[in-house]
Amino acid sequence: VTGSGKTQVYIELTKMALSKGMGVIVLVPEIGLTPQLAARFIHVFGDVVGLYHSKFSVGERRWVWREAEAGRIKVVIGPRSSLFLPVNNLGLIIVDEEHDTSYKQSDTPPLYHARAVAIMRAKLERAVVLLGSATPSIESYHFALKGRYRLVVMPKKIRGYKKAVVEIVDLRKSQELTPLSTRILEEMERTVANGKQIILFVNLRGFAPHLQCLDCGYSPHCPHCSVSLTYHKREKKLKCHLCGYEVPAPSTCPKCGSPRIVPIGFGTEQVESEVRRIFPKLRVVRMDMDTTRRKRAHEEIYRQFKTGEADVLVGTQMVVKGFDFPNVGLVGVLLADVGLNFPDFRANERVFQLITQVIGRIRRGGKVIVQTFDPDSIAISKAVEGDFLGFYRSELLSRQKFEYPPFVRLGIFEIQGRSKENVMTFAYEAFQILESSASKFRVKLLGPAPAPIEKFKSKYRWRIMLKSEHPMEIQNLLKSVSFDPPSGINIKIDIDPVDML
Ligand SMILES: [Zn+2]
Ligand SMILES: [Zn+2]
Repeated sequence: VTGSGKTQVYIELTKMALSKGMGVIVLVPEIGLTPQLAARFIHVFGDVVGLYHSKFSVGERRWVWREAEAGRIKVVIGPRSSLFLPVNNLGLIIVDEEHDTSYKQSDTPPLYHARAVAIMRAKLERAVVLLGSATPSIESYHFALKGRYRLVVMPKKIRGYKKAVVEIVDLRKSQELTPLSTRILEEMERTVANGKQIILFVNLRGFAPHLQCLDCGYSPHCPHCSVSLTYHKREKKLKCHLCGYEVPAPSTCPKCGSPRIVPIGFGTEQVESEVRRIFPKLRVVRMDMDTTRRKRAHEEIYRQFKTGEADVLVGTQMVVKGFDFPNVGLVGVLLADVGLNFPDFRANERVFQLITQVIGRIRRGGKVIVQTFDPDSIAISKAVEGDFLGFYRSELLSRQKFEYPPFVRLGIFEIQGRSKENVMTFAYEAFQILESSASKFRVKLLGPAPAPIEKFKSKYRWRIMLKSEHPMEIQNLLKSVSFDPPSGINIKIDIDPVDML
């Protein structure tokens, strides 16, 4: 559910909790990205609502903490860290957009998933958790079907479902290498002539270049991992960043023999300058990591576009979250495949969710154009058809086949350091130590292999992947062994990883 129907359900449940004297925590992926939800809550509940912002100063955080502790704030809306606020007599935790990756803290310890912590805290305090999403995560949906969670489907009438016209531009046929196809340029002109606005969506997150055949759409994948191989330009090699498999980069397409197999990828900046070059009169704003570093920068770009001070919004997945722009006539997904080829077992799920959310952003009479080299891929075709069940069924089968969550538990044992040689050497040592006990604990090991982004903040990162069908065995294995890394080498352990890059 993308519209306001979902917010109304949240508000009714919050009313019920408050009337019983209970407190409520509403988790949102990023409060700057969900101004409407916060505004609705404040409008209905007034000053018992406290907003918590990830960019708050220490003083501002303390203030919210004290107000919640004193019981003056009864409803907290904020990102994953709000989960730890001392809300009195907690009765309800709402996790909005439960599939969102920002609920996992992956960078600094403690590494935790807010969805899991919410369920744990609710259990301890006898509260109820509501996971809300138009595109539930594969894991949550699986648990709902298995009866571990209860599934509530909102009827179409309530959620105000309106189907936008979705058109696929098959880039194999159009043979164009610019981000904006002739077809989308036509639609942009038509949209502007009608006085409507345009959103151009570029999925840039963790961009990994890959090879793609311009004639048949083929992109080389790892034979062992079901993920796309990353193209290493300098070495002219294709590498799997999960298991370490590598092959020389082919000069002709292994599938159809075409010589037109090339590295693929472009970013928001390039799209912005293309739009300015082709439509010099249009006012363009860009929303991505670079333009939103400052506090309130999201809100400012959002305001400019909402009030019509800009005609075109170019952005990454940030533009997809929680926004409602009534005057948008056209949304372009410029290269749906980019996400599809991330070396991540959730790549399909992410692409499906993104395209579904993008389509949900547009109102009746609007148009969505999805540009892709791979219109037949499950993620893209099912999102365009709006076939949730079909996608989940097929994705679950693939997860089962390749042994990924929810069928196994996953852990990543990461070795980090400034010296590549020391990192590699210790990675192989650690692998041997783990391997000596792995079978006893029914844990399967993969690797060691460089992380997809091997060098990060001037540190090299190598990984060993641990898989087990038994939920506690990875931790038990890790507890049973000890490591003695040389100086300058760090170990990072991430159970239930979300960021596979
Ligand atoms: Zn592999
Ligand atoms: Zn080909």
